[in-house]
Amino acid sequence: MTNSTIPLLPEMAEIWQQTLNWQPSSQQQAQFQQLYELILEGNHQLNLTRITEPQEFWEKHLWDSLRGIALQKQFLPSLQESASVIDIGTGAGFPGVPVGIIMPNCQITLLDSTRKKIAFVDQILTRLGLSNCKTLVGRSEEIGQQAQHRQTYDVALIRAVGTASVCAEYTLPLLKQGGLAVIYRGTWTEEETTALQNAVKQLGGKIETIEQFSTPLSNSIRHCLYLRKVTSTLANFPRAVGIPTQKPL
Ligand code: SAM
Repeated sequence: MTNSTIPLLPEMAEIWQQTLNWQPSSQQQAQFQQLYELILEGNHQLNLTRITEPQEFWEKHLWDSLRGIALQKQFLPSLQESASVIDIGTGAGFPGVPVGIIMPNCQITLLDSTRKKIAFVDQILTRLGLSNCKTLVGRSEEIGQQAQHRQTYDVALIRAVGTASVCAEYTLPLLKQGGLAVIYRGTWTEEETTALQNAVKQLGGKIETIEQFSTPLSNSIRHCLYLRKVTSTLANFPRAVGIPTQKPL
């Protein structure tokens, strides 16, 4: 789509290189731009995002999505192969669509409980030609109990969906043993780590790493929590729809 009123996203090659030891190809940069244009367009009908300025969109949606899948400037090793990834509560497609753009060998499932948002993400996938991504409408509490999804993913991503223990209950049941959950957070404290430990243990996981970093343009503090699935999750998790938020572990 060419709409002359929509500005170009910045390229930020140096920042990509410094922070992730990587740079987008020209095709990936064009896909980022298309994604930006589709989201601005979709914002007229659906309340997708408040982040619409090009620099802010680049930092808070693109860079932030991809920073989560890197540890110490290296993309997660399982993504270098052909990992199966699920993005829970993807909304307008974050972080899953940027991950799908840069990891064409990975199979990405974009899950959201809101049908309208998933219909919009379907349009994005078609327009960007992302054949490695597919959508799924549903609640993670139900999907996590279905045999075709339970304990089948290598990586589960979750951003801005709930508290950390809720995110743990949504992600860990979907992971294979040895799989990794990435929980994107803003602020984080030691006390929260202690509280999360108990929930993660009940779900068959362990907290592997917590990374704190600053965003490269506005210097905002962010954290990513990496949870490793170490044993199989008990059949009663995830609990019924709504229970993880009403009665957090
Ligand atoms: N992850 C996106 C981002 O960071 O921009 C969207 C975040 S939005 C605040 C939260 C999304 O999670 C909404 O689209 C909502 O429909 C979805 N959601 C909340 N609880 C869910 C659940 N239990 N299962 C599936 N989707 C859920």
